[in-house]
Amino acid sequence: MSEDYNTAVMQEWPQVCNQLKTEVGETAFESWLKPLTPSSIDNGTLNINVPTRFMKNWVSTHYSDRIKKICGKKNPNIVNVSFSVQTVQNHNKDKSLIKQIKTTPAPAPVGFTENSVSNISTEWISDTDSRRQPISAPLNPNYTFDNFVHGKTNEFAYAAARKVAESSNVSFNPLFLYSGVGLGKTHLMHAIAWHIRQNDPTRNVVYLSAEKFMYKFVRALRYKDSMAFKEQFRSVDVLMVDDVQFISGKDATQEEFFYTFNSLIEEGRQIIISADKSPTDLEGIESRLKSRLGCGLVADIHATDFDLRVGILKSKAENLGVEVPEKVIEFLAHKITSNIRELEGALRRVAAHSQLLIGKDITLEMTQDVLKDMLRSYDRRTTIDEIQKKVAEHFNISVKEMQSARRARSVARPRQIAMYLAKQLTSRSLPEIGRKFDRDHTTVMHAVRKVEELISKDVNIQENVEILRRMLES
Ligand code: ADP
Ligand code: MG
Repeated sequence: MSEDYNTAVMQEWPQVCNQLKTEVGETAFESWLKPLTPSSIDNGTLNINVPTRFMKNWVSTHYSDRIKKICGKKNPNIVNVSFSVQTVQNHNKDKSLIKQIKTTPAPAPVGFTENSVSNISTEWISDTDSRRQPISAPLNPNYTFDNFVHGKTNEFAYAAARKVAESSNVSFNPLFLYSGVGLGKTHLMHAIAWHIRQNDPTRNVVYLSAEKFMYKFVRALRYKDSMAFKEQFRSVDVLMVDDVQFISGKDATQEEFFYTFNSLIEEGRQIIISADKSPTDLEGIESRLKSRLGCGLVADIHATDFDLRVGILKSKAENLGVEVPEKVIEFLAHKITSNIRELEGALRRVAAHSQLLIGKDITLEMTQDVLKDMLRSYDRRTTIDEIQKKVAEHFNISVKEMQSARRARSVARPRQIAMYLAKQLTSRSLPEIGRKFDRDHTTVMHAVRKVEELISKDVNIQENVEILRRMLES
């Protein structure tokens, strides 16, 4: 490509950035996307420089499709993006980062400073100086043990969390909580932190998402400020890392996490971890880290049952100060079975509706009306099983063949299309989709790219995919 051509792309980059910022939000943009710089275009591939290897992995797994789409819209010649590390950081020098914790002088204790936020899961600290920022994310004031309704499906995890919160010394180390989304992991972790904070303010409890752990680590590497990073963990008594599945991928962060983890455990600090899967099922995590994660107490939260959903709805209704008839509670508990977050969302919508229309009582009819869209999409939600079945039927193969190891194109192509549609039509993650096909997440990623590529140049494939998509969405 000519130099002029490349220059034009550079000039468009700020607009691409603006679009990205709107789509992913200011903080994620600042953390991951702002440091990117486009370098050239070769044969339709936009090459982008990234400051570290870790960022490269992260950005290419999480943002490459988005970047490709935006750039492709601006410039149809761009059909692919590729990332390369621009400056090689001295990783090895930083490897022993955490091991050195013990030998560095004690800094001022790091603790909670924030009081509350309403939505902690989206909270990120976009620090400009990691030394002055507390490492703990703020805690949601509603996520307490008092507000946690327990029943058959979450009893064990609840008991374990209480035990850890109430013991002044280390009980199970680590406590590993896992479940599907929206079932109470973050709530329990915050509850532990609140409890300790109230009962023994001298203990330094740090709660942070695995994403933030990585982000802080990457910053430390980038600015060669690993001392600050180490020091932050030095005075931690209880470390909670939420959603560790985000550390998946072969990267230095995982190693760093492993060292942090080991050194804190050796020093008798309590560690609490959450993930969407059990330690053994975590994908893209080194086996020694997996076994370390599973060596304390592993507690899972199962999908809710009807009784728990009723209990939760009653408790939330009381907190919201709304009167909800038994019939409505039961209706919601029957209908909304996926997770507690959605259940709560539905109740909030109904409550808001009745509060806005002052004096209007909540009734079953009103509930059905207010939640019309949500219930419809609920009924219609496409599953991976369904996708596999429909795609297999369409191409005249069996679902068994689709999941088999066969690589013949007559089987492989439908399989790739089914993976692609699963990514498009469900909210399942790549590893989750992979498992349904007995493959790992990289295979799914490859399939998605392949089908995207085919759609753009093969009308036949494009039509087939479109027909299947419509069929599945109807
Ligand atoms: P996860 O971290 O597992 O995705 P969260 O802890 O964020 O789930 O929970 C999602 C929502 O459901 C939160 O608003 C939380 O307060 C609520 N919730 C989860 N479990 C319970 C429970 N047992 N009792 C009351 N509320 C709950
Ligand atoms: Mg969570």
